[in-house]
Amino acid sequence: MRSLMFVAPGRLRFDEVEAPRIIEPGDALVRPLAATTCDLDHHVIADKTPFSGFGPFPLGHECVGTVVEVGPDCADVAVGDVVGVAWHIACGSCAQCVLGHPARCLRHGDAQYGLPVNGSWGGTFSELIRVPYAEYNLAPLPPSVDPVHLASISDNLALGWETVMPTIHGIADPQVAVFGGTGSIGLYCVDVAVHCARARTVYFDDDPIRMSVAAQLGAEVVDINGKREKDFHLAIDASADPDRLRKALLSVMPEGHVNSVGIYFQDVTLPMLQLYVRGVHFHNGKGHARPNMTPTLDAVAAGALHPELVTSGVYGWDEIPEVLTSPSAGHKPIFVLEPR
Ligand SMILES: [Zn+2]
Ligand SMILES: [Zn+2]
Repeated sequence: MRSLMFVAPGRLRFDEVEAPRIIEPGDALVRPLAATTCDLDHHVIADKTPFSGFGPFPLGHECVGTVVEVGPDCADVAVGDVVGVAWHIACGSCAQCVLGHPARCLRHGDAQYGLPVNGSWGGTFSELIRVPYAEYNLAPLPPSVDPVHLASISDNLALGWETVMPTIHGIADPQVAVFGGTGSIGLYCVDVAVHCARARTVYFDDDPIRMSVAAQLGAEVVDINGKREKDFHLAIDASADPDRLRKALLSVMPEGHVNSVGIYFQDVTLPMLQLYVRGVHFHNGKGHARPNMTPTLDAVAAGALHPELVTSGVYGWDEIPEVLTSPSAGHKPIFVLEPR
């Protein structure tokens, strides 16, 4: 089968590789229908991460697909099911998975698709994917919705739910600020904040395309250097930019929450005294996709979410290397693999 390889910064190619097989009785094999980039992938390709020096490796950890084979222990997953594939490799039953932290699975650590950490599980820009613990890691898609725009349910789309909903739970009339910059995650957060949390949502950025999408999704849009209120219940840093992180940290009301989903590969200076005086709850960590995929998909099925507005373009599978290495790759390009 063909698998997209990250070779070096700015260099991607399809390699012919051995197709995965069922190994454990709980495994399933999935053929992607559509796959897309995590915001992190753009940074890998642009040589902005430590992973950028570890090529070649299979790239990609977001896709939806069709189950084409199942192991004997898969009772709830059947050939022909249309599913989202969680980005992490998680058992679903260890102490961390049971707490809802599959990205901290005690059996598989940091293992995931599409990055060279803790074993190679292939990438989602491949024609076939082996999914262990398939009953846990696969989420059935709502039959009424075109799966193409759900390609990000594996990670960034579900992260939108995770970053907003638990934090604003119980707050009447929530006020949410989103500091964009990484690409799609901030926009998925806006969609959830406006349409599921029913929050007044303000989006800060300087990119006219992302700002226009945020406005279509129902946010008030403010230039990142414009006037900033400082009494949000929740400020989301989806920027990977230390200056925007600082703005997010100083935008919440006393005892407010800041959730950071941009990744910082280097230390940044934090205004600790101001955080102390204000009382800021700060979370910075990986998304735990699987428990958040189902409520996100339920919201999509109910017509509440609009992931199609976040998609920056839909392309054919063969176009992946060219589009992703182009300066105009877009914040959320989705690639469609024709059925066999
Ligand atoms: Zn990711
Ligand atoms: Zn586990």
